[in-house]
Amino acid sequence: MTSQFIPVEPFDYVVFGGTGDLAERKLIPALYHRAADGQVLPSSRIIGAARAEMSTEAFREFARQAIVAHVKPDERRSDKIEFFLGMLHYVSVDAASERGWAELKALLGEDDRVRAFYLAVGPTIFAEIAARLGACGLIGADSRLVVEKPIGHDLASAHELNLTIGRYFGENQIFRIDHYLGKETVQNLMALRFANALYEPIWNSAHIDHVQITVAETLGLEARAGYYDRSGAIRDMVQNHILQLLCLVAMEPPASIAADAVRDEKLKVLRALKPIDASNVADMTVRGQYGAGAADGAAVPGYLEELADGKSDTETFVAIKAEVENWRWAGVPFYLRTGKRLAQRVSEIIIQFKPVPHSIFGPEAGRLIANRLVLRLQPDEAVGQMIMIKDPGPGGMRLRQVALDMSFADSFAVRAPDAYERLLLDVIRGNQTLFMRRDEVEAAWRWIDPIISAWRETGLKCRKYTAGTWGPSAAIALVERDGRTWHEEEAGD
Ligand code: NAD
Repeated sequence: MTSQFIPVEPFDYVVFGGTGDLAERKLIPALYHRAADGQVLPSSRIIGAARAEMSTEAFREFARQAIVAHVKPDERRSDKIEFFLGMLHYVSVDAASERGWAELKALLGEDDRVRAFYLAVGPTIFAEIAARLGACGLIGADSRLVVEKPIGHDLASAHELNLTIGRYFGENQIFRIDHYLGKETVQNLMALRFANALYEPIWNSAHIDHVQITVAETLGLEARAGYYDRSGAIRDMVQNHILQLLCLVAMEPPASIAADAVRDEKLKVLRALKPIDASNVADMTVRGQYGAGAADGAAVPGYLEELADGKSDTETFVAIKAEVENWRWAGVPFYLRTGKRLAQRVSEIIIQFKPVPHSIFGPEAGRLIANRLVLRLQPDEAVGQMIMIKDPGPGGMRLRQVALDMSFADSFAVRAPDAYERLLLDVIRGNQTLFMRRDEVEAAWRWIDPIISAWRETGLKCRKYTAGTWGPSAAIALVERDGRTWHEEEAGD
């Protein structure tokens, strides 16, 4: 069985920051894949817009190199690459001055096709670009704006940014990307919950013991020191990706898959999160910062040694015990953690079910392990339901845990697409289901801001952890004092 690709209508995609890292590693390869699969009609145009002076020919060469570097050799076909490069154009535009805007306007012309403006630039110039697009008369009814994280630094700045872009684009034209939502596994979470009768009746506090969401990186600061040191793990990862995943696990069944039906339910979850403030922040959160250690088999310096001035209390790790205060989730902790320079690169959601109420098996059967649903987003997307079975063969009744593998990519004979492939074309289709609405982003900040203030107020410092480990021991204690363990410590079960 193979997937079917339905072409989208012809479009103009203007990528501000078309020469940047995001465009090179993600956007250009994703658009190439969609074009190679025949989903992009030849009259569509992809217009790189960035500060650098560059010809269209040079931009095409940049894109060719991006494809060589970031698309697997067996997925590169020279005829498809030439077809794709033929759609590319480039205009040198400066967001901060008049330079290039008239040229961009002339290139776009009067066409009434879908026009998407992707802001793959730093957030400080989002507002300026939106304003100039408005002033130049480039925004029509079929125009769309795509913005990347970070959407604000706190509630006030997110609100301000939303207000500004909202002056030029309607909410139904604004696509706030959280690429985690474009991942197959995340969409599979919705399919598992709402396309099967099996899970939903047990998807509650009567049957689920707790939920874990881990987003672990082995990388350190890389080239992002300036941004990261002002942000920290809670802003960089929890406010967006982790809370979005939590919402999809915890939300009530929406009436339909329509964007606002889903987003209304996610919003209710964010609003039901138990506040964390100075009174409980020390019990519910752990901050960490990595010291020197090892990553991927090589010695690596500590966080402070990577900073120019060697001083910072920014957290590179955070663990939070979150609670969703509603009927469905009363008493079910959601343990969240994310960090840099951890032991393994892995992003996963663990739904830990409760043990059976009574075991009929004797001690010779072995340990009864409670069921667990594992949704892995990175490095390889996978869904597995851990269940107990009888150890096959003659002999006594011995029990064993096995994974029901629910990753069907192999049987469907499809390449696992990158999240951006779906999201970039959802923008053209006008489908906002996998994008964050303004009130969701602001509700997430409304929960995060008091945690950050409480850290400051109570003087909760970062605990050191050795690079290449699973974070500070206090994060292990956060879960163990409830009689539970983080998932990786049970690996091999
Ligand atoms: P980058 O520094 O590599 O690229 C920035 C781009 O913006 C360049 O093309 C540059 O020419 C352009 N630019 C800068 N100032 C400009 C101006 N005044 N006028 C016109 N163009 C200008 O940055 P990046 O890593 O590609 O990140 C871009 C955005 O995407 C940021 O907001 C970042 O937080 C976000 N983001 C990046 C990644 C990633 O993997 N790189 C992931 C998620 C989000």
